[in-house]
Amino acid sequence: IIDVKDLHKSYGQTEVIKGVDMTVRKGEVICIIGPSGAGKSTILRCLNGLEQATGGKIVVNGHDLTDSHVNIDQVREQVGMVFQHFNLFNNMSVIDNITLAPKLVHHETDEQARAHAMELLKTVGLAEKADAMPKSLSGGQKQRVAIARSLAMNPKVMLFDEATSALDPEMVGDVLEVIRDLAAKGMTMVLVTHEMGFAREVATRVIFTDAGVIEEEGTPDEIFNHPKSERLKTFLSKVL
Ligand code: ATP
Ligand code: MG
Repeated sequence: IIDVKDLHKSYGQTEVIKGVDMTVRKGEVICIIGPSGAGKSTILRCLNGLEQATGGKIVVNGHDLTDSHVNIDQVREQVGMVFQHFNLFNNMSVIDNITLAPKLVHHETDEQARAHAMELLKTVGLAEKADAMPKSLSGGQKQRVAIARSLAMNPKVMLFDEATSALDPEMVGDVLEVIRDLAAKGMTMVLVTHEMGFAREVATRVIFTDAGVIEEEGTPDEIFNHPKSERLKTFLSKVL
């Protein structure tokens, strides 16, 4: 679904992504781990066109993001993204947050969009909050609404950038549970996470990034139990 070849990204003179190759196949759950500043968020943001690559090639579901003629909106519809800070529309109810894009972009009728939204709210365990305003929700609930909102566009792949790191510890579990369910249903996902236990459990493949490159990648067992590079060993000794 996603094919990245020799991705480079610079901000001004500073190159922060220095040649990343990465393939995401249908049904894979890829966890990207690595120290702060490694470039994890930048890689994700390049994958849905929020940042423009300065070199290399990114093909998402047949669309070449580095082609200047690409219809970036069309690509973004297929790539859902969930951020650390949920970015809900605070002046709209939960259900209106979820139905907005499907109605506007996919021209779904109000009934269609609401029926789908209610289904998604059930999956994230928030059916009773449909008419609530975001400000009345906890952080964990907001994040689950944000996930439902992304899913409403029927994305081919979901990207999560530290979706749980702004949450109080007791909220983290509920959000991870939703992600775990998505994985079980076969959703293709790329997750940047600091939750090593979770990465070990749900990832089909783990990518360790450091200083703008992929330093090591493998199965959770290879990465967590048999790390090869010194940098990964050092990183794991700090976070495990
Ligand atoms: P963290 O774990 O702290 O979220 P990260 O791995 O996600 O880190 P990035 O946010 O991708 O790291 O940042 C990689 C590097 O790029 C950092 O050195 C950062 O300072 C730099 N950087 C990121 N965004 C910009 C920007 N808009 N302008 C200039 N430099 C940036
Ligand atoms: Mg980041």
